[in-house]
Amino acid sequence: MTTIAPVEQSIYDKILAAAPDGERLRLCLQCGNCSGICPFGYLMAYPPHRLIAYLRADRFKNVLDTDTVWMCVSCYACTEVCPSDIPLTPGLMTSAKEELLLAGNVPSELQSALEFSQRYGNPLGESPRKRADWAKDIQPEVKIMGKVRQPVDVLWFVGDYPSYHPRVQSIAKALTKVLNALGVDFGILGPEEYSDGDSQRLAGERGLFEMLAERNGMAFGKYQFNEIITTDPHAYNAIKNEYPGLGISYPIKHYTEFLAERLDQLKPLLKKEVKARVTYHDPCYLGRANEIFDQPRALLEAIPGVELVEMFHNHKNSLCCGGGGGGMWLDGFQWEKAHVRLSEWRVKEAMSEGAEILAVACPYETPRFEDAAKTVEGAGELKVKDIAELLAEAMGD
Ligand code: SF4
Ligand code: SF4
Repeated sequence: MTTIAPVEQSIYDKILAAAPDGERLRLCLQCGNCSGICPFGYLMAYPPHRLIAYLRADRFKNVLDTDTVWMCVSCYACTEVCPSDIPLTPGLMTSAKEELLLAGNVPSELQSALEFSQRYGNPLGESPRKRADWAKDIQPEVKIMGKVRQPVDVLWFVGDYPSYHPRVQSIAKALTKVLNALGVDFGILGPEEYSDGDSQRLAGERGLFEMLAERNGMAFGKYQFNEIITTDPHAYNAIKNEYPGLGISYPIKHYTEFLAERLDQLKPLLKKEVKARVTYHDPCYLGRANEIFDQPRALLEAIPGVELVEMFHNHKNSLCCGGGGGGMWLDGFQWEKAHVRLSEWRVKEAMSEGAEILAVACPYETPRFEDAAKTVEGAGELKVKDIAELLAEAMGD
C-alpha cells in the first residue's frame, strides 16, 4: 500500500491559524497604515505590511534571516489602525516572533529573561521565596494567602516588577497604603505568585506562558476570594483575556478601575494638595488593548491641586514606552538598532506640555521614563510617578 506523506503546513497557514481571527490576514489591502504608525516601522526590514506580502509570496525564509522583527514592542498601534481589522499584534507579529525563536534567532538579553522566567518564575531571575519581601516591614501586615489561610475579599496579583524592582516596590507600598485606608480586605500570593507570562507570550514563548499561567491558576484555585486586582496592565491583559482560554477564569480589575469605583470613599481621604501640572501616559495594555482610559484620569482629577493636561498622543493614539512584547528585556538591542528610546520620545512630549509630573499606571513605566528623563535635555526636573504613589502622597502621613 502506498502511504501518502502528510502535506507540510506552510508558515502562512500556521500563522493564519495561530490567532483567533487570524484568517483575516487574507484581507490585507497592503495599504501600509500598520507600518506607517509603527514606532519602529521605519527600521524594521519587514514591518507588518511587508511581512504579510512575504508570507503570501511564500518567502518567509527571508524574514527568518533578519532580526528586526524583535523591534516590535507589541504596542497594538498597527492593530488599532488596520482598516481590515487584522489581529496584527496578537496574531502576525507574535507568530513571527515564535518562528524566529524556533529558528534560534533571538537576541541574547531576551533569551536570558525567558530562561529566568522558566527557571525562577520571573524574568528578573530573582528567588521566588523573596517575592513578598517588599511587604516585610509594612503595618498592618500584608496578608500572604498561604500563611493566613483565610478567605479575603480581594486577591492582589502584585506582578514581577512591583515585587522585585527596587524603584517599583515603592508603588506596591503606596497601593498598600491606599487599600488599607479604604479598608479593603486583601491578600497576596507571595511566593506562590508567578510571572503572569503575557510579555513572554507576546515575545513568542507560548509554551512558557502556558506553564506560568497554569502555576498561577493552581495558586488561585487554592484560596477563596471574590475578585482579583492587579498593579500590572500586562497581568490584567493575561488574566482577563488569555487565562480563560486555559480554563482559568476569574474576575479581574486593574487597580485604577477598582479605585475609580470607590471614588466617593476615596475623595475625602485625599486631603493634601499635590500642586502640579500632570500628564498621563496611557499604557498600551490598559488603554489600546483593553480600553481603560477614563478611570486613571478620574483618579488623577480627584487629587487636589492636580492640573491634568494631555500629551499630543493620548488615549487610543498613545505612544508605547518601549517595554511591551519583550521590549523590557531588549533595551540594548533596541538601542543598537535605533539609537533612540521610545521612552525618550514620550518624555519630550510630556515636557512640551509643560508637565511637572508624568503619571503612569504600569510598573514597566516608572523606571523606563525615569531613565529617559535623565538623558533628555531639560527633563531633569520631570517627576515620574505611578497614580498609586500620587494618591498615597495626597493622603498625607
Ligand atoms: S493596515 Fe491592515 S490592511 Fe493595511 S497593510 Fe496593514 S495589515 Fe494590511
Ligand atoms: S505592535 Fe506596535 S511595534 Fe509591533 S508592529 Fe505593531 S505598531 Fe509596530
